[in-house]
Amino acid sequence: MSTPQTDTPFFANYINGEWVGSSKTFENRNPANTDEVVGLFAKGSAADVEAAAQAAAAALPGWAGMPAPARGNILFKAADILEKKFDRLGAEMTREEGKTLPEAKGEVRRAINIFRYFGGEGSRLNGVMVPSERERVHVFAIRKPIGVVGLVTPWNFPIAIPAWKMAPALICGNTIIVKPASVSPLCSWRIVEALHEAGVPKGVVNFVAGSGGELGEALVKAGPLKAISFTGSNEIGNWIHAEASKRRLRIQLEMGGKNPTIVLADADLKSAVENVANAAFFSTGQKCTATSRAVVEDGIYDQFVEALVERTKKLKVGDGMKAGIDIGPCVEKSQLDTVLRYIEIGKKECGAPKCGGNRLTGDGYDKGYFVEPTIFADVQPEHTIAREEIFGPVLAIQRAKDFEDAMRLANNTPFGLSSSIQTTNLSRAMDYVYRAEAGLLTINLPSAGVEYQLPFGGTKDSSFGPKEQGPAALDFYSDFKTVYMKY
Ligand code: NAP
Repeated sequence: MSTPQTDTPFFANYINGEWVGSSKTFENRNPANTDEVVGLFAKGSAADVEAAAQAAAAALPGWAGMPAPARGNILFKAADILEKKFDRLGAEMTREEGKTLPEAKGEVRRAINIFRYFGGEGSRLNGVMVPSERERVHVFAIRKPIGVVGLVTPWNFPIAIPAWKMAPALICGNTIIVKPASVSPLCSWRIVEALHEAGVPKGVVNFVAGSGGELGEALVKAGPLKAISFTGSNEIGNWIHAEASKRRLRIQLEMGGKNPTIVLADADLKSAVENVANAAFFSTGQKCTATSRAVVEDGIYDQFVEALVERTKKLKVGDGMKAGIDIGPCVEKSQLDTVLRYIEIGKKECGAPKCGGNRLTGDGYDKGYFVEPTIFADVQPEHTIAREEIFGPVLAIQRAKDFEDAMRLANNTPFGLSSSIQTTNLSRAMDYVYRAEAGLLTINLPSAGVEYQLPFGGTKDSSFGPKEQGPAALDFYSDFKTVYMKY
C-alpha cells in the first residue's frame, strides 16, 4: 500500500483483504477545532468499487457456505476487539463528528452490542417450519443470503449505523462493500479493522471511502451487487432508488425527518421539558430521530415555553471532549451554514427566537462550527422551519388547541421517522400510538434514543424497504428458500 509521508495518521481502503492506498487522499477535521486533522484517508475511485465488488463476489460462496455460528464467532471476536479500544473509539468519534464524549462512548457501546446481538443470531437464523396439508410431506423454508451488498452510511452516527448494517448483512452470509460518509469515515474504518483482526476471510468485507457521487454511482452499477442499504438525505436516497430500481436491486432507504413531540396539558411539565430539550438539542440536533417540532396544547403552552427556554439557556455548548459540555459543534461548515440559513428564515417568518439564534464566536468557539440552541415559538404549519428538515439545534414550537389539533399538526408532514408524546393520560397515549404517522414512537421519553434489538425505521417519505435492526434486519439481508419434501 502507498502511504503518504505525513505525521497525520493515514487510513487506507480495504479491498479483498488488503489495505489499499491511493494517489489521492482526503482529510477529516475536528469540527470543534478545524486546525486539527483527525486522519488522512485514501480517496477511493470507481475502479476501487468495482475491484471490491469482484472480491466480494469471489468470497461469497465460502462465506455463505460457512456455518452461521462460525460467522457469529467472527462477529463476537470483532466485538471483543472494539471493546478493548472502547475509550479510544469514543475519543476518535468526538474528534471527527463533534458529539460529546459521553454520547460518543454510548454510541460505541451500542455498536459493540450490535455485533454481539447479531453474532448470537448466527445460532438462531430461524426459517419457517409448519405442518403440511398433505400426508407424509414435510415443508419448511430456510434463509439464504442475497449476495453482494452495498452499505452507504451518513456522518451523524458514524459507528452505530455502519454496525447496524454490517453485522446483520454478515451474519446472513452476504459479502459487503462499505462506503462511509466523507466527514466521519474513521469510526467505520475501525470496525473494518476489527473484522480484519478477527480473521474475516478476504473479500468478505470491503471498505472504500471517497466522494459519494463517484463511488455511489459505481456501487449502484457494480455488476455483482444484489442489494443496497442506504442511510442519509432524501435527495440521495431518491437518486439511489431511481438508479437501483432499474436493475431491480433490493433497496433499503432510511432518510430525513421532521419529528414532532406532542406535549399535552396533562403532561408532567418537568419531565416533558427535559425530554424535549434532550431530543431537540443533544448531539447538536443532528440525530435523525431528533425532535424538531414541539406541538404543545394550549393549557400548558406558556408554562412549557418559559420552562424550556430557561432549561435551554443553561445548556453548555463547546468542545465535546471537555467535561460538562452538553452540545458540540455542527459537523462541518456546510451544515453550520444550513442551520444559520434556517435560523434567518425563522427570524423572517416567525419573528425573534425565544433564545439562541446565533453562531457562537470568541474564545473556544472561533475554530469550530458552534451555534446556540435556538427556539422559535408560535410557529405556523406553513412556516419553512415547521416543514423542512434542518438537522441542527433549532426547535419550532407549535400551539395546539386540543389533542385532536395536536395529532393533526404532528402528522402534518411528508416525513414519518420518529414521533413522541408527553402525557399522563393512558387513553390519549394509546390513541396516539394508533394514529401517529411515524415508524418510531416514544411516550414520556425523548423522541431520540433507540435500542438495537427492535425494528428501526420510518414511514411515509422517511423510509423505503424493510426495517433495520432487531430481528427485522434479517428480512432485508436474507431470502427464503421454501422446500416441499415427500417421504
Ligand atoms: P447524505 O449527504 O445523503 O450522505 C449519505 C451518504 O451517501 C454519504 O456516505 C455520502 O457520501 C453518500 N452519497 C453522496 N452522494 C451519493 C450518491 N450519488 N450515491 C450514493 N451515495 C452517495 O446524508 P448526510 O448528510 O451524510 O446525513 C444526513 C441525513 O441523513 C439527514 O437527512 C438525516 O435525517 C439522514 N439520516 C437518516 C437516518 C435514518 O435512520 N432515517 C439516520 C441518520 C441520518 P459523501 O459523504 O462522500 O458525500
